Amino acid sequence: MENFGCAENSKKFSCKEKEAGNKTFDSVAEIAASRGFFWPTAEIYPDKLAGFFEYGPNGLALKNNILKIWREELIEKEDIIEIDGCQILPKSVFQASGHLKNFNDPLITCSKCGFKTRADKLIQESIGKEIPEKLSNEDYDELLKKNKIICPKCKSFFNKTERWNMMLKTGIGAESKEAYLRPETCQSIFVNFPRIYKTSRLKLPFGIAQTGKVFRNEIAPRQGLIREREFNQMEIEIFFNPEKEDEIKNFNEIEKEILPLYLKDKLQKVSSEEAVKKKVVKSKLVAYYLTILKQFYLKLGIPEDKMRFRYVPEEDRPFYSKETWDFEVQINTGWLELCACNHRSDYDLSGHQKVSKQSFEIVDESVGKKVLPNIFELSAGVDRTLYAILELTYKDEPKNDRTIFSFPEKLAPVQVAIFPLVNKERMPELAKKVYEMLKPQFKCFYDESGSIGRRYRRQDEIGTPLCLTIDGQTVKDDTVTIRERDSMKQTRVKIKDLVGELKK
Ligand SMILES: [Zn+2]
Repeated sequence: MENFGCAENSKKFSCKEKEAGNKTFDSVAEIAASRGFFWPTAEIYPDKLAGFFEYGPNGLALKNNILKIWREELIEKEDIIEIDGCQILPKSVFQASGHLKNFNDPLITCSKCGFKTRADKLIQESIGKEIPEKLSNEDYDELLKKNKIICPKCKSFFNKTERWNMMLKTGIGAESKEAYLRPETCQSIFVNFPRIYKTSRLKLPFGIAQTGKVFRNEIAPRQGLIREREFNQMEIEIFFNPEKEDEIKNFNEIEKEILPLYLKDKLQKVSSEEAVKKKVVKSKLVAYYLTILKQFYLKLGIPEDKMRFRYVPEEDRPFYSKETWDFEVQINTGWLELCACNHRSDYDLSGHQKVSKQSFEIVDESVGKKVLPNIFELSAGVDRTLYAILELTYKDEPKNDRTIFSFPEKLAPVQVAIFPLVNKERMPELAKKVYEMLKPQFKCFYDESGSIGRRYRRQDEIGTPLCLTIDGQTVKDDTVTIRERDSMKQTRVKIKDLVGELKK
């Protein structure tokens, strides 16, 4: 694949990950493009932009399946409702949210060639270690000077560090009113909170969820779906009475579940109950939602030993958060954050209350008192999650001359592929009949072109769990071959028993 992720530099594979020799990333990106999962936006044009990607049919099916499981496991099982707000919001929203002032990255520009990059990232790459996230412009200037860091393009010095607001600004209507593309979905949840509370008749604690597109004008997007300028979030905001953070009615159902908590450079595997008792996490509410988030990611096929919750120290936390646990998974390049779990306290509601001059307080009927709810959020990246699933289920099997994605069945874009062995002797007719029979119950795909070996390889590359082949024996005795993706084991089954057998 060409120009993956670094289109603006328009050099083939000029990205860091290629330089670092990250084979898995390149292989996954190549299969993703060739098998219709995702590829760079407007890839045929020279002015294509970095940090934008398109989902093809298989990628969209995978994304929709992730969202389906998110709804089943998190929304429907809990007292959570879902809304669908706008992507463009007026300036006041981001005044109240603090994004106009605080949502920015340190930007440096080369004094000679004008090359622009992120000060923090360049310093980290140059000195080979992490630096705190919340440094001042002066701190960055100091670090650049101290470590003699110069422009990687022309070896000149950088100008002083500036702040780059990551929101994409737009003008609405003929008078071009100031507005912004949302950088997170949750702001409309906060803005709409008083109305939703009134109309939904829910009692604290309860959640409001939203999924959709968000936009961030990253200075230097890279690593494909991991850092994009337009991407998808699935966010849940739990509203609760801060005095009752330890009164969670279903807590006993999950208290024995193990949480992999990573803090002070150490992994502690403790039960939710212990985590609360030892005050490792702030409250039962926090432990409860971390636990159900972990269960959700297990359902997506992320192995338990590849996941952890990393405690984010104060200096690295987002500006609105009182306590943050980042849910991370281990991929080839290291630990990748998939979901930020933020205790946002009353930061958001008091901000919107102040700017809008409307009351966001509600009566908590259980105590008969007015409260300004606090918020705990599970803010997950859909595209990152999808990429992590691809990488963690990817297997290269040179001895079988194939590569596969071993998706859980519920995630697979195609669940059952149906092939006639050859295009004669009634096999295509029988295969189409089987296809029509299974279609209402499974996601099916019919394919009669190419050798049978090649058809199997194609399905392996899109992670199809089962392939059915209709052959000469089918014509005689009404049996078909079921071939299982991971083991490549084949068994023969009567057509009339197929539905029952596949459901197993
Ligand atoms: Zn330069």
